[in-house]
Amino acid sequence: MSLIVQKFGGTSVGSVERISHVAERIIEAKNEGKDVVVVVSAMGNSTDSLVDMAKQLSQHPPDRELDMLLASGEQISMSLLAMALVSKGYPAVSLTGWQAGIMTESVHTKARIVRIDTDRIVNLVNKGIIVIVAGFQGITEDGEVTTLGRGGSDTTSVALAASMKADMCEIYTDVSGVYSADPRVVPTVRKLVRISFDEMLELATLGAAVLHSRAVECAKKNNVRLMVRSSFTNEAGTIIEGDVDMEEKVVCGVTHKNNIVKITIKRFDALASLFSILVKSHIDVDMITQCSNESLTDVSFTISIADLGCTLDLLKANKTRLAFEEIVTEVGLAKVSIVGAGLVSNPEAAAKVFTALAAEYIAIKMVSNSEMKVSCIIPESITERAVRTLHSVFGFDVQQMAGAVH
Ligand code: ASP
Ligand code: MG
Repeated sequence: MSLIVQKFGGTSVGSVERISHVAERIIEAKNEGKDVVVVVSAMGNSTDSLVDMAKQLSQHPPDRELDMLLASGEQISMSLLAMALVSKGYPAVSLTGWQAGIMTESVHTKARIVRIDTDRIVNLVNKGIIVIVAGFQGITEDGEVTTLGRGGSDTTSVALAASMKADMCEIYTDVSGVYSADPRVVPTVRKLVRISFDEMLELATLGAAVLHSRAVECAKKNNVRLMVRSSFTNEAGTIIEGDVDMEEKVVCGVTHKNNIVKITIKRFDALASLFSILVKSHIDVDMITQCSNESLTDVSFTISIADLGCTLDLLKANKTRLAFEEIVTEVGLAKVSIVGAGLVSNPEAAAKVFTALAAEYIAIKMVSNSEMKVSCIIPESITERAVRTLHSVFGFDVQQMAGAVH
């Protein structure tokens, strides 16, 4: 019998009515003769509310206790969904991450799954029972509850699909697939019918929030076919699988990420020390450019605004070691990127990006170019215009695409 893993995100289980609707979706798959394992996120924005409560009591809540708190969100949705299924006449059992055998590293708030002991789930599935697993949580060898980082339920579902050799992992969300750009920014987006793991990984890393990048990594590594689709409609979604089809378009989408800060350190010569200090403190440094004259260097790099305070503290604390003259901080920036496996053999695409942005008088502050992407740092106030411009220049706007799916 075929086995599918279905994951339902927060909005899909955002109310009792939605949970009842989700139960119907699961029953449809069950009635088609499939075995179903379900992964749920916490209801609506309830994880945010839990974080808010913690922050009201403590500026820096202990990570262990945060995990204990946040893991409770998924337990509400999983048990309600099991009740809904049972009341509709379908046997179902909900399991916490630890009951489901999801073993993680001993790191709180951003643990990685190390293995899943699936015996218990397999036994239940073999009895015809629908198993609902709490997403985003696991347990360490020492019996400590962990969570996988915000958005981590996607990873739970892909890891479960990989461990159980499921035929497909369906990610149900509030949009009907992966789009050529953020539909809230570009009204003319089109839905992608199929994209490769590598393209999805770039899109997710560069700002597409539809899937957690770690989940895509896990799917690629274990060759788990994914489908992203809406729990609100019956439309077919986007399939993410396999390698790139060379016949396909050069570019598969335009993404953007706001809240970027550029830091320039002027006149110093300790590049290696600088980055080892930042890496040790888990500061996620993105683009780096350096400009040398004689023995001294100016270096610029970008980080997310969330890391700004910590980065400036570190730089100040290491001023003597790094021996720099000045730090210049530029906030209010964004990154727009085009992504596509075909970029490697189409270097002219980068020129097309620069020309299109220049024609719109959009100042590019930094650029980074790789096999699968071209990214530009620009002022955040004009991100939307930049995304729309690139979307149209690369021929994605639906009215330009004969027969496009949207
Ligand atoms: N409930 C968690 C969050 O909001 C995990 C998830 O939804 O994937 O981040
Ligand atoms: Mg999510």
